[in-house]
Amino acid sequence: MQHVEMKNIAKSYDKEHYVLNGIDLEIEEGEFFVLVGPSGSGKSTLLRMIAGLEEISGGILKINDKVVNHLRPKDRNLSMVFQNYALYPHLSVEQNILFGLNAKKVKKQEQKKRLTETAEMMGLTELLKRKPKQLSGGQRQRVALARSVVSEAPLFLMDEPLSNLDAKLRAHMRMEIRRLQKKLGLTMIYVTHDQVEAMTMGDRIMVLNDGKIQQVGDPISLYNNPANLFVASFIGSPK
Ligand code: ADP
Ligand code: MG
Repeated sequence: MQHVEMKNIAKSYDKEHYVLNGIDLEIEEGEFFVLVGPSGSGKSTLLRMIAGLEEISGGILKINDKVVNHLRPKDRNLSMVFQNYALYPHLSVEQNILFGLNAKKVKKQEQKKRLTETAEMMGLTELLKRKPKQLSGGQRQRVALARSVVSEAPLFLMDEPLSNLDAKLRAHMRMEIRRLQKKLGLTMIYVTHDQVEAMTMGDRIMVLNDGKIQQVGDPISLYNNPANLFVASFIGSPK
């Protein structure tokens, strides 16, 4: 279980213009936290800083009360799922799922145990010997998720993981991800530009615009009491 805290986080790519500024935020253990905002608002930048893939220009980032600003990604005990999840085309489903564990030199016996459990939970048991091109889009997405699940990281970061799927599959995968998060007790930070996705999935939602937090709250309070006109029009409630 992981608790994430940000104090006055800022990001500038060119040391002049700030794409994120004054971000104060606390994400609780086991919470499904959604970052939502229009394209270019800074969602991916923020997520990548949490993951350690992007340098933090100012402020303090803590995971479990420990400052991690300069900690390497692999030492942060988290797992990230990207928008354009790439499976290795020449490897089987099983090899794709186990790739990260192999790299971390997890013992074979432990790998086998985790693979069996994960495949069962994700409905992939029958597909383990297939190659990615022999799978549907939804199945491929499930393999990408399984690759994260098998890592047993307590903190998950997802950056628009469903944006390449059609509407029906997207609705289905939303439920699957929610179910998985609850079942494993994960702390989830989930990025989307889709208001419906944010409102249906989030325990709490942070609305971001132009690098600044507009509002943080649960879906009902955002809908009923939007903090400003931007939130009102973005979430779609009358104000
Ligand atoms: P979002 O994920 O909400 O669409 P991003 O975090 O990708 O937003 O981008 C926020 C801002 O930072 C945008 O103005 C974008 O052009 C800029 N940006 C993102 N990545 C880089 C980069 N590697 N170098 C310079 N500017 C970047
Ligand atoms: Mg993005």
